[in-house]
Amino acid sequence: MREIMSIKRVLLDTTELRDFVMQIFVNAGCSQTESELVARLLVESNLTGHDSHGVIRVPRYVAALHEGLMIADQQVELLVDTSSFAVVDGKYGFGQTVALQATNIGIEKCRQSGLSAVALRNAGHIGRVADWAELAAAEGFVSVHFVNGAGSVMVAPFGSYERRFSTAPYCVGVPVPDALPLILDFATSVVAEGKVLVASQGGKQLRADALIGPDGKPGNDPHLLYGEYDETGLRDPRVGKGAIRAFGEHKGSGLAMMCEVLGGALTGNGCTETGRRFTNGMFSFYVDPARVDPDELFPKEVSRYVAFVKQAKPSEHGGHTLVPGEPEAISKKKRLRDGIPLSENTWRAIVETASSVGIEGVPAAKLARD
Ligand code: NAD
Repeated sequence: MREIMSIKRVLLDTTELRDFVMQIFVNAGCSQTESELVARLLVESNLTGHDSHGVIRVPRYVAALHEGLMIADQQVELLVDTSSFAVVDGKYGFGQTVALQATNIGIEKCRQSGLSAVALRNAGHIGRVADWAELAAAEGFVSVHFVNGAGSVMVAPFGSYERRFSTAPYCVGVPVPDALPLILDFATSVVAEGKVLVASQGGKQLRADALIGPDGKPGNDPHLLYGEYDETGLRDPRVGKGAIRAFGEHKGSGLAMMCEVLGGALTGNGCTETGRRFTNGMFSFYVDPARVDPDELFPKEVSRYVAFVKQAKPSEHGGHTLVPGEPEAISKKKRLRDGIPLSENTWRAIVETASSVGIEGVPAAKLARD
């Protein structure tokens, strides 16, 4: 195996990294099709700058597969199926696989009815919710997604230091004519758990008040979430005595609760609580703007408004006013050109996982300049 111990950050070529990750999932027991999908979406997260939902997840996904917590190559089951509504059981399949199936059901119903809703329960980790909003936007549809992670009790509500929410992401996608869609997609916690994971592996540090300790004081030490851990070992967020803080004071905390109630209770996934198995639930609405806007005002108005917002003068010299989805597009362009940076510990953990499923060859990793 190539020596990588002394490297702080490495750069990987996108295609080589994707192929490597794909092979890991094939060797771990997933079909070629599922392995390609999972690898593509994990690498897409890295490309878009969301390392928290990228290949750093490989060791966890493989562990979940081996423990039977996630099941390879599942087909969703339709529990309710009307012309505009579906309840879909992901049956503990890979989130990438079952959320794709659920999203395709929502898109198809929206095509037929102009408006649809899909409640997905019991999905493995669905990754970046933007992936699903982007699919809808590519069809010309607006979508709204409320997501929870049952069993993933990590976030303290406003006014408390005790965990009650998952990082419960919220996402809205809007197609924009002849331009990238507007994609607003974020965890309702100050940071997604994956960002704590990245920080714990030597990646980007958390802002000073991202977490909260059992003493009620804000902090950013990943040990508050994970307790004790070794460099490349799996992090267990159930162990730490602190919590991640809900974002946006009482308003963000309220949105987190609504993601739990819609993504958890309304889907049948269950709101988050200690002792449950991890599953993502997602409640999604899809709207065909062409059906609610026969005068075709919406596309022109969205384009005009995006331009108007982007013309707002930056508050910092040399800065830019961006719209949701733009930072991801900028990151993708840069990383496709320069490669994907990973911390040494993240890369070592992936290489160890590859070795555990019988892969010996490792893609060349260049030393990254900070
Ligand atoms: P974040 O804090 O980086 O916010 C991202 C959003 O803010 C994007 O829509 C982005 O375009 C927008 N944005 C960022 N900077 C901007 C700027 N300068 N101007 C305008 N818009 C800007 O995201 P996060 O909370 O760290 O979440 C990261 C990812 O984690 C998301 O994709 C989310 O879906 C995912 N997530 C998934 C789960 C799960 O259980 N599957 C849980 C939590 C988070």
